Amino acid sequence: MYAVREIKNSYNISHRDAKFIVSHLNKQYDTCHRCEKPLNGHEYTICVACNSLNFNWNV
Ligand SMILES: [Zn+2]
Repeated sequence: MYAVREIKNSYNISHRDAKFIVSHLNKQYDTCHRCEKPLNGHEYTICVACNSLNFNWNV
């Protein structure tokens, strides 16, 4: 997975953590990765619609 390696390199964290982050990372900025509802613009946020954790990074 390209994103996992990219995050590992950029943030110097373990593969497990990188995988965890990627699994919660939104594909589109400010949009929930799970239900695709708009988020509140915070970097780490819980979706109000589905309670899913989102790493709201503009990557
Ligand atoms: Zn959601």
